[in-house]
Formats: sequence, C-alpha cells, structure tokens
Amino acid sequence: MVLPSAEESLSRPSLPAGLRQDLVDVVGAEHVLTDSRTAGYVVDWTGRYRGFASAVVRPRDTAEVCAVLALCSAAAIPVVPQGGNTGLVGGGVPRAGELVLSLGRLDSLGPVDRAAMQVTAGAGVTLAQLADAHPDLDFGVAITSRHSATVGGTIATNAGGVRVLRNGPMRAQIRGVEAVLSDGTVLSHLSGLTKDNTGYDYPSLLAGSEGTLAVVTKARLRLVPRLRDPIVAVLGLPGLAELHGLAIRALQEVPGLVSAEFFTRTGLDILLRNTDLTPPLDAPAEAYLLLEASDAGALEALAELAGNLPVAVGHGAADRARLWAYRERHPEAAGFLAPPLKLDVSVPAGRWVELATSVGDVVTAVDPGARVITFGHVADGNVHVNIAPAAEVDGRHQDAVFSYVASLGGSISAEHGIGALKADWLPLSRTAAEREIFARVRAAFDPAGILNPGILPR
Ligand SMILES: Cc1cc2nc3c(=O)[nH]c(=O)nc-3n(C[C@H](O)[C@H](O)[C@H](O)COP(=O)(O)OP(=O)(O)OC[C@H]3O[C@@H](n4cnc5c(N)ncnc54)[C@H](O)[C@@H]3O)c2cc1C
Repeated sequence: MVLPSAEESLSRPSLPAGLRQDLVDVVGAEHVLTDSRTAGYVVDWTGRYRGFASAVVRPRDTAEVCAVLALCSAAAIPVVPQGGNTGLVGGGVPRAGELVLSLGRLDSLGPVDRAAMQVTAGAGVTLAQLADAHPDLDFGVAITSRHSATVGGTIATNAGGVRVLRNGPMRAQIRGVEAVLSDGTVLSHLSGLTKDNTGYDYPSLLAGSEGTLAVVTKARLRLVPRLRDPIVAVLGLPGLAELHGLAIRALQEVPGLVSAEFFTRTGLDILLRNTDLTPPLDAPAEAYLLLEASDAGALEALAELAGNLPVAVGHGAADRARLWAYRERHPEAAGFLAPPLKLDVSVPAGRWVELATSVGDVVTAVDPGARVITFGHVADGNVHVNIAPAAEVDGRHQDAVFSYVASLGGSISAEHGIGALKADWLPLSRTAAEREIFARVRAAFDPAGILNPGILPR
C-alpha cells in the first residue's frame, strides 16, 4: 500500500458537486466532511495505515444509510464502512479516495430483554456501553478497545478478545442483524430467536466480512450473566513451554475459567520503562500467565496450580483492574519503539510453544534490528506478534511470519481480519476454491462492487 503524506491525504479531489449536494440533502451539511475534519477518519489506530477520503459521511439511522448507499451505488463511488476505527489491519480506513461511511451516530441502545437476555443495539454502540447496559448482565466479548470499538465493527471483524474461552467470539453473540446492501436494500432479521432454522444464516456470514458484503446498522445480541467476584492471578514462569503446560492444566482443572492470557518479559520491560506500571511480582519472570476464574472453588484450584510459583492475586475490582492492566496495555508496547506492525496469528494447541518461542527469530532473520513482542490469548492458540520494525516494511516481515505460521498449520488471522495488511497472503490460509466462493458471495451481496474494495477477494 503506497501511503500519501498527511497533507496529501487532505488535499485530494472531492466528490462530484451534484453527489455532494445529494449527500448533504440526506444527512445534513455538518455530516458530510470534506475538509481537515476528515483527518481522524483516514488514519488507523497504529498510524501505519493512512489513505485519503473523497468525503466522510455520518448518517444517523438506517434510512439515511440506505439513501447514502443508493447514491454511492448509482455513482459507482467506493465506500469504506467505519465504526470506532480501532481495527488493526487497515480495513476501516480509505486507501485511495473512497467515501468513508462512519456509523458512530447509529448509537441507539434498546431496553434489555431480561427474559431473553438480549438487547438490540445500533451499529455505533460501543462494547463498553453494552457491558454497562444492565447491572446483572454483561456482554460476552471483552476487548481492550471496548470504549471505542462498535457493534458494527466488531461484527464485521468477528472480534475475539479475552473471554472467547467462555463466551465465544462476536459471531456467537449474534441473535439477529439488520444490514443494508450497497443498493440501499435493507436485510432485517432481528427476531432474537435462539432456534431459527429458516435458511441461510446471513448474520453469521456478516461476522468477519470486514465491510465487504453489507453495512451492519443494528444487531440483536445475547448478554451473559455478570461474573460474581472473579479472581485474577498473574503467575511468573521460567519460559513459554512451562507457561503453555500450565495454561492447559488450568483449562482442565480450574472451575469457571474465563481467561488465560500471556505476555513476556520483553513487552513488560518496555511497558515498565514507558508507563506508570510497576512490576507485578517481586522478581522478574521470563513469561507471565494471567488467569481469571469465577466459580466456587476457583481460588483453591488456582492456589494448587500455582504451587511454588511467584503469583499475584487480585480479588476486588481495583486489584483485578491493576493486574489486567499488565496484559491490556501490551497492544501499546511496540508503539513506544516504532509505528508497530501487528500480526495476529493462531496455531493448533500442539504447535503453540514452537510458534511462541521461535517467531522472534523468524522476524529477526529478515530484519535483524526489529524488536518483537508477543502476547495474547494462549487458550485460543492465538499469539499477537507485534513488531517494531527497523527495516523497511515492504512485505518481508509478513512473508516470514505468515509462511512460518502456515507451515505449522495455523491461520494468518486469528481475530483481527485480513484488511489491507494481509490481503496478499490470504492464499496461505485459504484455497483457490475457497477464495472463488468468497468472490461469488461478495458479488451476490454487492453486485456494484463498491463496498470496501481491496479487502478480501472480489
Ligand atoms: C488496544 C486494542 C486492543 C484490541 N484488542 C483486540 C482483541 O483482543 N481482540 C480483537 O478481536 N480485536 C482487538 N482489537 C482490534 C479492534 O478493536 C477490533 O477489530 C474491533 O472489532 C474493531 O471495531 P471498530 O468499531 O473499531 O471497527 P473499525 O476499525 O472501524 O472497522 C473494522 C472493520 O469493520 C468494518 N466495519 C466497521 N463498521 C461496520 C459496519 N457497521 N458494517 C459493516 N462493516 C463495518 C470496516 O470496514 C473494517 O473493515 C484491538 C484494538 C486495539 C486498538
């Protein structure tokens, strides 16, 4: 991806005047941005992906989304849907003059249906708002970006996070979706029925579609019981092989295990140097396992698991938040050294140790000055490989890591999606026949081909 400078990004040609006026008639002049106010919408969270937009359009409801898409379809204007812009693969920012359709104003949150344990939320509602919707109920997906990441964006990426082990990813929370096709047609199936075998499950198809099939405008989502007094423990271990062994034991022995996360001394040291965090344990360890569990008996099981290992335990909310911060601040770590390259991969459980211990060497073989920080969701076979590159980012880092992951039988995207970052390497994880079906599905949903061009096969 060739990236224009910040100044260039703001000075590219605008929309045809007639279309601009039509858009203004739909959403109002203050919600069709074509000036410096587009700046925050054309660059991603890492600062690595920056494009330019012909306009940023901010509809407030489904009817306005329909009207905007119908206009763009008729004028063949490509559209990039955008939620909270926390995506990490460059899929939610424009590349070359697309119109950014910002869904943040679709933020209506319906009443919680206590009996069904469900709620209907607009695409712009954040995951933090969902988690706060009811005192006894919680939202099943928890990610560090929850205060900005939206319902629409997390469905479009099928976000995972730290509770997949217990609740599954975003796809597993969906009980219905309302979405708009590129020609303005509304698909709506928000009944919330848990059992509903009446044909193709397109809400599930939209999960992970990265804005290429339709624009999500609303979702019916399941809620889960709020955890009662969960316990968090951070254990220090001599290495990643020992850490993985203990995580597997925790999965089998700790009742009510909610999360099993890891980070290493490399990332922690960077955070300790650059933030107000203080060391979690009396002595440094090479690898750290964070476990959260909630059921009766969890504390005893965690104590037995820890044995003589150094451990910090958090009971109350403040203590738990203090311990979680060590893991939750890891996405920032590489950014203290350079604009980071974030490669999010997964492998079968039996290959996890190999991946986690060797991926640093795989990267430094192609970029000897690079710093590599690994952390992530150990229970899901998921490693976030964050790289502070020293050499030019010309594909060599991705090539090395993704080829290695494929050789281990893994996936080049565990939970962030393909986006612009990984598009060239999709054949490592998907066959030609699979990619052909992707393209046909895409053409069926979006025959005009205007939704998020450049992301996933067309
Ligand atoms: C600090 C940090 C921690 C993170 N941790 C995790 C983690 O643990 N697990 C994880 O899975 N992700 C994680 N992420 C990544 C990110 O938060 C998720 O990908 C999230 O789902 C993106 O939501 P968003 O609203 O910001 O979407 P955006 O970034 O705006 O968009 C993401 C994609 O969805 C599409 N899209 C957005 N809205 C819609 C819509 N309404 N309809 C159709 N398509 C749409 C976009 O075109 C784009 O392709 C993290 C990010 C950060 C910054």
